[in-house]
Amino acid sequence: MLTALPTPKILPQLIVADELPPQKEQSAMVIIMKHNATAQEIASTMNRVEELGFKPHPIIGEERTIIGVVGDERGLEPENFSILDGVERCMRILHPFKLASRDFHPDDSVVRINGVSFGTQTIPIIAGPCSIESREQLMESVHAVKEAGAKLLRAGAYKPRTSPYSFQGLGLKGLELLREAKEKYGLPTVTEVVSPTDVSLVAQYADVLQIGARNMQNFALLHAVGETQKTVLLKRGMMSTIEELIMAAEYILSHGNQRVLLCERGIRTYETATRNTFDINAIPVLKQLTHLPVIADPSHGTGKWDLVAPVARGAVAAGADGLIVEVHPNPAKALSDGGQSLKPEKFAEMVKQVRKIAEAVGRSV
Ligand code: PEP
Ligand code: MN
Repeated sequence: MLTALPTPKILPQLIVADELPPQKEQSAMVIIMKHNATAQEIASTMNRVEELGFKPHPIIGEERTIIGVVGDERGLEPENFSILDGVERCMRILHPFKLASRDFHPDDSVVRINGVSFGTQTIPIIAGPCSIESREQLMESVHAVKEAGAKLLRAGAYKPRTSPYSFQGLGLKGLELLREAKEKYGLPTVTEVVSPTDVSLVAQYADVLQIGARNMQNFALLHAVGETQKTVLLKRGMMSTIEELIMAAEYILSHGNQRVLLCERGIRTYETATRNTFDINAIPVLKQLTHLPVIADPSHGTGKWDLVAPVARGAVAAGADGLIVEVHPNPAKALSDGGQSLKPEKFAEMVKQVRKIAEAVGRSV
């Protein structure tokens, strides 16, 4: 005879709000000092910040000093500071990003790399092949891009490719060639780093560490580059929002490296006519929200060499602080991204065109 099994009693699991651990919200504030605040008043305001258990981040401007404070929300009350001598006012930073925010640092940040500045009226161009393939190919590329007006050389030694069967880069041999190119031609260099364990090695060979689109949210990698004092060129992930890009930059800044360049390189949309959709909006949005220089990559942004110059012109008109462009002496033979690489003479034409656009918007190339 079958006996009915007892019905199991499933009791709803209630989570009572006060059993949850208290949430520590990160909050941030800026203390804006009066323009005539004395050094003593600035020092005692910083002391007060430290006494309350926060770390002050002073920014000494020409007009006045601003002190940024990031920390646990509790205790970070504007009233604690607005009563101090020499303080004009305190403002909470409401964005999820703090150190990257323009509230925190109202002026444009200027990032200098061996005498080349990003974030000023002048717009430097970074150019070179997608990958380092051989000494001859690299030297021919750097010679051509320097001649045409590029201020930095780009070239990848470690290539994050969609297919494991595609060319992965020359690795250390590539880094050695990159150093040789810099010694011979004097252009500072930009190259990608794909793994946290490679950061210190790549930093010995290159001036700028590129974080590629596929690694924009590789937090271990962001942490590792954040602990260096090398400039980081941070590319927007192909499926990332502008806010996610800024939060990725915030990781680098919060680990102590303030030398960050943001890069719009196109995002994936439903459009198939181009490899990616270059998001021109990102340029003025990033300029509004952050103080960091914004670089445009019309090569990956379009995926087609004949669209690179028009999109480069548009990016400069929209306020980009720099361009990064792929150039190859023989694109048909390139081991990566040949279809979007400019021949040297096309690159030289592009430089002339963007120079005119820069002048029209009160800047120079
Ligand atoms: C590159 O710069 O060659 C590159 C791989 O770029 P992205 O990460 O933007 O695809
Ligand atoms: Mn490429």
